[in-house]
Amino acid sequence: MASRQEQLAYQDYPKTMNAYVIRSERYGEPIDAIQPEVIAVPALSSHQVLIRVMAAGLNYNNVWAAMGNPVDVIAARRKRNRNAEPFHIGGSEASGIVTAVGAEVSHVKPGDAVVVSCSIYDATSMESRTAPDPMFTRSQEIYGYERNYGSFAEYTVVEDYQCFPKPDFLTWEESATLMLNGPTAYKQLTHWVPNNVKPGDPVLIWGAAGGLGSLSVQIVRALGGLPVGVVSSEEKGEYIRSLGAVGYIIRQHYHHFGRLPNVTSEEHDAWAKAFAAFRRDFFKALGQKELPKLVIEHSGKDTFPTSLQICDRSGMVVTVGGTSGYNCDFDVRHLWMHQKRIQGSHYANIRECHEFLQLVNQKRISPTLNKVFRFDEVPYAHQELLKGRINGNAAILVNATMPGLGRKEDATQQAAPSARNAEQA
Ligand code: NDP
Repeated sequence: MASRQEQLAYQDYPKTMNAYVIRSERYGEPIDAIQPEVIAVPALSSHQVLIRVMAAGLNYNNVWAAMGNPVDVIAARRKRNRNAEPFHIGGSEASGIVTAVGAEVSHVKPGDAVVVSCSIYDATSMESRTAPDPMFTRSQEIYGYERNYGSFAEYTVVEDYQCFPKPDFLTWEESATLMLNGPTAYKQLTHWVPNNVKPGDPVLIWGAAGGLGSLSVQIVRALGGLPVGVVSSEEKGEYIRSLGAVGYIIRQHYHHFGRLPNVTSEEHDAWAKAFAAFRRDFFKALGQKELPKLVIEHSGKDTFPTSLQICDRSGMVVTVGGTSGYNCDFDVRHLWMHQKRIQGSHYANIRECHEFLQLVNQKRISPTLNKVFRFDEVPYAHQELLKGRINGNAAILVNATMPGLGRKEDATQQAAPSARNAEQA
């Protein structure tokens, strides 16, 4: 028999919700493209979960969604399914409270506080049942980007396997910014055996004070590796030291990042000199003359030639992005002679999400939340992201009424329905 809490949750199943919505007719800068609307709460299928969003993580993918570029996510979805909605609700990370569950869901129940991972795939297909990892299957998509009904709304719809228990000692906003960058970094550092981090391994991390980088630094340290970060200021350098980096390099000290010049040109000589200075400073920051076994890449075009060259023999450059550009150069002689590996990586599987959260629950990794916005600031927050004025992890308070709530001691207070929804239900 359903508990009283479950019965109440079902009675309260909302019909509509406030959401920040993108439509193709207003694609463009986020400040105009993302607008508040009242949207019908979708029905759940048997393996889905409805979550009352307390806080949502901010990520660049919703800027791309707002611009309709490089992918028109609404058109792409409607091409796959002509009944798909003509709008997009972004947001690929959430913390919240389970409101209702589909008939086949057994591992979460209404009232549970959860965080949400962002990979979705067709769990019933033969492909995902036979693939070595569901992240490698064709049906794999990112929640709140390739899929609709993300977390910039009072309610979000997720697959049951996306739900993980929220760490009860963290606030809503802290826990809303863990599950995209954290598992991504954890997979970069652990999945690609034999090039996973081992105790004593030096690891070079670009953008080490950013969202992905600040979590990478902590994960390397937790696994016994020696993280050296690249940052753009002394202040950021000291910040990553406080997270466990053994040292840092300031990228503005070198003037030859960017495309790799032709190897016989004078520009290449200058590039090689700048590279030698960078390598010398890496040794200094590390405190020993050893090259990185792993290079954590996401910065792309500007940094890739340096990444490939500095990586140790039989080491790996593992990339998840191309912030500065997608055309990346490298000198192939270094790849074959020194038997290095270039590895693409993308988000993480359920096991990796779980293992990352275990490190958080053991307090070996802390959230690195830099900025918190109100719900009505969703368009502004994305505009700030577009203009490069947000660095690191940022959160939006959705149903959480103020920052600092959501730890176990105030869970009861937070489980009450919001005034906004009570009016609409
Ligand atoms: P942030 O903006 O928080 O951090 C990126 C950092 O990169 C900045 O802080 C900056 O640090 C550094 N940076 C920017 N431009 C350059 C440059 N030209 N050369 C060197 N460093 C540069 O972003 P995130 O950490 O959240 O994300 C980083 C990238 O990873 C993004 O491209 C994102 O799309 C991708 N990503 C991919 C995922 C996947 O699953 N495929 C998942 C998560 C993220 P500083 O100025 O201090 O050097």
